[in-house]
Amino acid sequence: MQKNQDFDPAWLDKYVMPNYGRFQVWPEKGEGPYVWDRDGKKYLDFAGGVAVCPLGHAHPEVADAISRQAHTLIHVSNWYCIRQQAELAKMLVDDIMGIAGKCFFCNSGAEANEGLIKLARRYGFTKPKDDGSPRHEIITFTGSFHGRTFGAMSATAQEKIHGGFGPIVPGFVYVPFNDIEALKAAITDTTVAIMVEPIQGESGVNAMTPDFLRAVQACCQEKDLLMLLDEVQCGLGRTGELCGWKSIIPGDEIIPDAVSWAKSIGSGFPLGSFWIRDRELGHGLDSKLCDLLGPGSHGSTYGGSPLACTAALATLNVILRDDLTAKSAKLGQQIAEAVTAWQHPLIREVRAFGMLIGFELAEEVIAAKPEVKASGKIVSIYTAKALLDAGMMVVPAGPKVIRWLPPMNLTQAQASEGLALFKTVLDQLLEA
Ligand SMILES: *Cc1c(COP(=O)(O)O)cnc(C)c1O
Repeated sequence: MQKNQDFDPAWLDKYVMPNYGRFQVWPEKGEGPYVWDRDGKKYLDFAGGVAVCPLGHAHPEVADAISRQAHTLIHVSNWYCIRQQAELAKMLVDDIMGIAGKCFFCNSGAEANEGLIKLARRYGFTKPKDDGSPRHEIITFTGSFHGRTFGAMSATAQEKIHGGFGPIVPGFVYVPFNDIEALKAAITDTTVAIMVEPIQGESGVNAMTPDFLRAVQACCQEKDLLMLLDEVQCGLGRTGELCGWKSIIPGDEIIPDAVSWAKSIGSGFPLGSFWIRDRELGHGLDSKLCDLLGPGSHGSTYGGSPLACTAALATLNVILRDDLTAKSAKLGQQIAEAVTAWQHPLIREVRAFGMLIGFELAEEVIAAKPEVKASGKIVSIYTAKALLDAGMMVVPAGPKVIRWLPPMNLTQAQASEGLALFKTVLDQLLEA
């Protein structure tokens, strides 16, 4: 790999803010599930940009589509009609959701969730309490992660995300994840929505139980609340279903009111989106939910540019055409079975949903190792670092889980390569 002689690695710490705890690896190039750093060292990338690269790196169809579109029209304002937006929205509604609705385009997951929050607030104005005052409270859950903007951060029920930034946006009520009684008890006449990740990614690959998902839907129907699903990480096929919640309850039983997406949608080209269901508002109101955010109510300068939508169209096209959802569902299952069969003393549980796989580590055993203690690192980060040194990128999820987010077009041979590396590192850690 060509090194830029003038470049000084110290620039990153000197000129870029210290908000990320970075591993000292400098990726220069990627292809499929592999990445090469500036020294030419090769890595198996099972971090995938944290669930961002469903087709691996430098997929030729995506790269060509982006390149062609960049030479044609990168950006034009939403004051005009953007053909690629219409095409992408149609694909999201008809092929991904399969439920009538409309989409909005922005640039990130947090922004997509801001849209869900604004939708809920608007719904609470439109359908207020008996005394006419708006309903505004949104219920979210412990362990959730909805993003870093003020609304999304406030929706995130984790003190470590919003601590030190208060006062946070009012109107969020936090309830223990998967606790049906606590959920029912938290609903008041001020509640307007329930917002939830079907599978919590950041906090350790924890899925809603089917009973809990059913209870959320039942509460929403009974109390006229919006059911908002954050599928930024688990959506668009990642979990082995085009809709993440269907890996918990398959079929048509669950019908959300709105769903947010980002991460994998554009193969790394920044794009976020949310879908709102086409349904009557009821109560004699002459409007539909998907039209509630009318002209002037919401927007984004970059949102849904021709280039971003082209990247997403190319990405989703390959996922749908090559049936990568079903393929990765199967491969994820095989990976989980292989790891479970090791009965490795350092692995407590495997939680696999397609290409979103959480390995819960034996935290106390690893934490007690002298070199882990000496490092001062938490167990998930220590293990991720050990894997990185061995040539494999993974992502920590909470203190004791590491996450694999391989591309959805991963081959069996590449999966085996990852499994072998993983086992070697775990064995070394066990003997340390
Ligand atoms: C990553 C993530 C977000 C935030 O997405 P950004 O693009 O970083 O703003 C929101 N929700 C979930 C579930 C996520 O995993």
